[in-house]
Amino acid sequence: MHSDSSLLIALGGNALILPGEKGHIEEQFSRTNACMMPIAALIAKGVKVAITHGNGPIIGNILLRNECAKDYIPPMPLYICVADSQGGIGAMMGQSLNNELRRLGIDKTVSTIITHVLVDGNDPAFREATKPIGPYYSDEEARIYMKMGWSMRKIPERGWRRLVPSPRPKKIVEIETIKTVFERGIIPIASGGGGIPVIEENRVLKGVDAVIDKDLSASLLACELSLERFVILTDVDGVYLNWESKNKKKLDSLTIDEAKRYLFEGHFPPGSMGPKIEAAIEFLESGGKDVMIARPEDLIEAMDGRAGTRITS
Ligand code: ADP
Ligand code: MG
Repeated sequence: MHSDSSLLIALGGNALILPGEKGHIEEQFSRTNACMMPIAALIAKGVKVAITHGNGPIIGNILLRNECAKDYIPPMPLYICVADSQGGIGAMMGQSLNNELRRLGIDKTVSTIITHVLVDGNDPAFREATKPIGPYYSDEEARIYMKMGWSMRKIPERGWRRLVPSPRPKKIVEIETIKTVFERGIIPIASGGGGIPVIEENRVLKGVDAVIDKDLSASLLACELSLERFVILTDVDGVYLNWESKNKKKLDSLTIDEAKRYLFEGHFPPGSMGPKIEAAIEFLESGGKDVMIARPEDLIEAMDGRAGTRITS
C-alpha cells in the first residue's frame, strides 16, 4: 500500500447496531470499538483518513424517543434529529478512535464536525416521499399522522411507517472546515447520516424534513477532499449478483461499466446497495482511483484486495 494514500471511510449505520441488539450504550460502544480498531490500524500505516457514517437504526430510536415523550417535551423536526444523531454517533466514534490511537501510541486526534448538506428545493424527490424511517405505527396512529401531513406506507404484517423525501446532496456547507481539519492531519468525522438537509432561499439556509442517503453525500465529500480511495463499510461482505436468490454470486471486482450494467438490470435496489454503487460510479468518474465495499472487520484485507468488492474505472 502506498504510504501517502488518502481515503474516505463511510461506515453504515446498520454496522453500528446489529439486528437483535437493543442499542444499549455498551452494545453501541463495543460495536463502535470493533469498527474503529481496523481504521486506527490503517492510520498507523500512514494512510490519511476522513470518516463519515450513516444513522439508520439510531435515527429510528431518536424519532421513537420523540414520540414517547411528545406529551411532555415538544418533538423536534427530523432535520434536528439528524443533527442529534451526528452528535451522538460522532461523540462515540471520536472517543473510540481517539482511545485506540492513544493505545497504539499515535499522536493524532479526531474531530467531529456537525455538517449541513444543501439540497435543491425543486428536487423531484420532494414530490414523492420514498424513504421509510422510524417506528411502525397502528392504523389509528397512522390516520392521525397522515392528517398532520406525514406521508406513510403500510407494510404488510408490521404496520405503518413514515416516508420522507430523499433528495440528492448538492453541496457540503462546512466543506472548508472539513478540508482545513483534514489538511492539518486531524481525522474529521463529517456529514453523518447524509448530513443535515437544508435548502437555500434568498441566502438563508432552512432545515427540511428529508433524509439524504449517506453514500451519495460520502461520494461528494470524497470528491471535495480529492481523495484517492473510498471505502464503504456495511453489514454484508461484498456486492452480489442475484442477491435475493439461491444462486447469488459475490463479485470480487467490478468495472464502472459492469457496475452501470448491473445497476440497470436491477441487481442493486434503491435505498440499500443501489446508492452505494451510484456513489462509487460518481466518485470514480470524478477521478477517484478505486472504491471498496466490505464489512468493517474486513477493512485491512479489503484494502489489500483480499476481501470485499473492489470497483475500479
Ligand atoms: P448501510 O447502513 O451500510 O448503508 P444498507 O442496509 O443501506 O446498509 O445496505 C446494505 C444492505 O444491502 C445489505 O445488508 C443487503 O441486505 C442489501 N443488498 C441489497 N442488494 C444487495 C446486493 N446486490 N449485494 C449485497 N447486498 C445487497
Ligand atoms: Mg444505507
